[in-house]
Amino acid sequence: MKMFDPHIHMTSRTTDDYEAMSAAGIAALVEPAFWLGQPRTNVGTFEDYFLALLGWERFRASQFGVRHFCTLALNPKEANDPRVADAVIELLPRYLGKDGVVAVGEIGYDDMTPAEDRYFGEQIELARKFDLPLLVHTPHRDKKKGTERSIAICREHKFPDELVLIDHNNEETLPLVLETGCWAGHSIYPHTKMDEDRMVALVKKYGTTRMIVNSAADWGVSDPLKVPKTAARMREAGISEQDIATVVWTNPLAFFAQSGRLEIDEVERGAGIDQREKFEGNSVLRGGQTPVVRP
Ligand SMILES: [Zn+2]
Repeated sequence: MKMFDPHIHMTSRTTDDYEAMSAAGIAALVEPAFWLGQPRTNVGTFEDYFLALLGWERFRASQFGVRHFCTLALNPKEANDPRVADAVIELLPRYLGKDGVVAVGEIGYDDMTPAEDRYFGEQIELARKFDLPLLVHTPHRDKKKGTERSIAICREHKFPDELVLIDHNNEETLPLVLETGCWAGHSIYPHTKMDEDRMVALVKKYGTTRMIVNSAADWGVSDPLKVPKTAARMREAGISEQDIATVVWTNPLAFFAQSGRLEIDEVERGAGIDQREKFEGNSVLRGGQTPVVRP
């Protein structure tokens, strides 16, 4: 079964991860721009990061047969850093129109400060201007309030529900999202947030409409195979192949196809691998390795 990981930070992962993901059936992914674990000190580092998501990382994924898309934004945490916040908002229009950018994100709330409110609103307007969907991160602390406020601000801006993916849901926030027309993402983590069994229970209770799962794997303790592992657990629990495919493939594809920058047919066909290729003269291979070439 083909699978899609719609929220994974591959820049922080290794080529072993790409190999394992590809072998487990992950054919496409979305890498949202996010917080690097320490504050950036100037806007130039954002620009290089955006360029890497659109360039080198996309190439690296292709070398393992994985289609790479990204979302770009000022992340909620750094919305609170005046050294970079306004400059990133000014920078974004230069990149949001580029091929491979399938949403504005991840935006949302971290501490729910006035600065976060302001940049959330400004980035909703950027999404509207560029005809892009929104990927919304919900906070770790006070998640319910953060989810309610995220939905409320999208409504205040009259941004269409069907273009909003509210991410990192749990048992408490999912019903709030499903009441709207927004899509509901779930991050399956090794120790916190959702795990595979809790996700199975949610699919059994609420069905598959607008339901999405991801690994949210990054530089922290996380597992880039959580989408295939959740699919396997759904199968063991008796959920039909069609319903599993809806959650791990059809739904994320349909959501991000709304960007107009992801062709469903093309992604369905899958990508070959040609490790003889280079990106600006650089290869993922080291000397002496035989390039994999697969149609
Ligand atoms: Zn993330």
